[in-house]
Amino acid sequence: MSLVWRVAVPSPLRRLFHYLPPKQGATGNPVGCRVRVPFGSRQQVGVVTATGEHDGSVPFDKLRPVTELLDAEPLIPADMVALGRWAADYYHHPPGEVFEQLLPAALRRPVPASAGKRREWQLSESGKRQDPEKLRRAPRQRAMLTLLQQAGAAVGADELAVLGEGWRDVARRLEDKGLVVRRERMAAPPMSHGQGTGVALNPDQAAAVEEITRDENRFRCHLLEGVTGSGKTEVYLACIRRALEHGRQVLVLVPEIALTPQLTRRFREGLQARVALYHSGMGDGERRDTWLLAREGKLDVIIGTRSAIFLPLARPGLFILDEEHDSAYKQQEGWRYSARDLAVVRAREQAVNVVLGSATPSLESLRNAESGRYHRIRLPSRAGAARPPRLRLVDIRGEHLDAGLSGELLRAMDRHLAAGNQALLFLNRRGYAPVLVCHDCGWHAECLRCDARMTYHRGRNSLDCHHCGASRGVPRACPECAGGRLTLPGQGTERLEQALARRYPDYGISRIDRDTTRRAGTLESLLETARSGEARILVGTQMLAKGHDFPDLTLVGLIDADQGLMSADFRGPERTAQLITQVAGRAGRGEQVGEVLIQTRNPEHELLLHLIRDGYAKFARAALVEREQAALPPYSHLALLRAEAHRRDAVRDFLGEALDLGRQYGEDSGVGSAVLLMGPVPAPMERRAGRLRWQLMLQADARGPLHRLLAQWAPALETLKTARRVRWSLDVDPIELF
Ligand code: ADP
Ligand code: ZN
Ligand code: ZN
Repeated sequence: MSLVWRVAVPSPLRRLFHYLPPKQGATGNPVGCRVRVPFGSRQQVGVVTATGEHDGSVPFDKLRPVTELLDAEPLIPADMVALGRWAADYYHHPPGEVFEQLLPAALRRPVPASAGKRREWQLSESGKRQDPEKLRRAPRQRAMLTLLQQAGAAVGADELAVLGEGWRDVARRLEDKGLVVRRERMAAPPMSHGQGTGVALNPDQAAAVEEITRDENRFRCHLLEGVTGSGKTEVYLACIRRALEHGRQVLVLVPEIALTPQLTRRFREGLQARVALYHSGMGDGERRDTWLLAREGKLDVIIGTRSAIFLPLARPGLFILDEEHDSAYKQQEGWRYSARDLAVVRAREQAVNVVLGSATPSLESLRNAESGRYHRIRLPSRAGAARPPRLRLVDIRGEHLDAGLSGELLRAMDRHLAAGNQALLFLNRRGYAPVLVCHDCGWHAECLRCDARMTYHRGRNSLDCHHCGASRGVPRACPECAGGRLTLPGQGTERLEQALARRYPDYGISRIDRDTTRRAGTLESLLETARSGEARILVGTQMLAKGHDFPDLTLVGLIDADQGLMSADFRGPERTAQLITQVAGRAGRGEQVGEVLIQTRNPEHELLLHLIRDGYAKFARAALVEREQAALPPYSHLALLRAEAHRRDAVRDFLGEALDLGRQYGEDSGVGSAVLLMGPVPAPMERRAGRLRWQLMLQADARGPLHRLLAQWAPALETLKTARRVRWSLDVDPIELF
């Protein structure tokens, strides 16, 4: 009998490929090693996921040998190979693409796996003394200087990249001014020298730490449900310290890069550890180095976004996911994995504790806590002197609004600003106005490639589509009736900012949304003006809702709470409740009580009343009852087959065949009655960027039958002729239903 290597080769096929060992150089265990293999007429880099006897699935004389073994020892450790194999099965995704994601981009090529030198930037003597305000007119340079001064040490590209695209140019300019010097050193980042004790924990926090660290060598998933400002980060820090004392590594996931600088700073101040970041803003070489150092155990704490769940660790000791409810943990293209769910699976596999933290846990996690799979820990009150904010609905029916602002909200702003505090106005819609309408005939500006309206942006005087990025000029007259009365009803953050600037000319205003933060350093510098109190009024989209801490912020106004209430998605209410609670949680984090005004035209809406009267936890309980009655997740399990093409009939033909095939497999395997196939139906926004999008939904009470059907169905879909005319993808546990 002869041995074959089963290799995950990047391709859209749901199978491993079999090869003979290379003619030379193969001595040790190759599982986890990269190999170069012939694939069709080309050479590809793949990963050996298993070895075994030749099983006859391919005639022996058709087997070709591996061209080259690229790693002398497994690059992907055995525990991560196991995770990759599990994930390819669970998500019914091509293993080649799964294993590709397990590697940083720089190691997907046939190059040796070794780390380069680490580049660092640090302040020169004059940089240390420089007052950042001197760089007022160059806010991006000011942001970088401030970051370096606050770090108080040399900083690597992982941290500077958080400033956003173009940060290298900014660094170069500071180097030219003699404020910053660049240097290179071998590999790992330096040890931080935090005091290592932290604040005195309150009894709830101490109990949480005790629970989480009680048994360090066993898998347990803890759902840390702590109201905003309850001191979850201090709990994380205390748990991390314990793990470090035992010589273990800690992986901390956050939903977005913008949250890393604040967290990194607190970790450096509170820990003695080699702390590194891992996110998509870093260059390929930097990501490779962090990946390799983590694998070698030369990093102690890694803070990263979604893809950091694939970092191999030599001594894993604890996984933490902050804001576990955040949809950013779910990849929305290609392989649609959930980093949260993979973290739990990985923790079980590697016998470590995992902490899912949130003020507004997902209904999935709450259900897992209720059923005893997760262990629930509560921090019911704010830490220190801070008290919970007071929430109130403002009925704006029939009110005359100025750029969306009610009299009541404006009076509250006057009060809070006069008292020397800050106000945050939240509106989840960027741009000036969401639509351009003809007053005479009702025509409105629509995207030519999407079923969507164009948003008017005043700053660049253009109509932009927020779905495909299309942009065009503003017509002078109505293209339909040639009338000249074009109006701009409704508002976005740009219009709101303008109205506020008119009304409050003496107060600094910071608008924080995707438009104002595109360039490197702008987000950090805007956040800094908010933290320093230079900006007294903050206007922003959901970028402002998460995790940020502004001690003087006492008033939060939600301009349009109804936005989320109309959602077609069954998760709409959950998302809205999370968003409102998170935004409200920005108020009153210092000593003064926060006030939250929620503007709505639906003051009787049950969700809003529930949330205000009873808080998120009670809302969530009621929402779970509704989900159970409607047999929706987490009480059932979903998978979504999406397809898109330029022609509608191509999409319908494919999904129609897929439906027939699914029904047939269901009958043949006896799971037909346990799995419901629904559709095909068009996505809520059928046309996007010129493509027509349809979908087929599978629903089952239990995972078993669903996955048995998917295991047969997904590979069969690859062979359909109609599949060649569409782009299709399978989404297991979808969180967006379009
Ligand atoms: P969360 O992550 O739950 O929103 P943080 O950990 O950021 O909360 O804590 C909120 C605020 O309370 C921070 O300013 C933090 O320094 C402070 N804080 C946390 N724990 C304590 C404590 N035990 N005593 C005093 N202040 C605390
Ligand atoms: Zn018209
Ligand atoms: Zn568009």
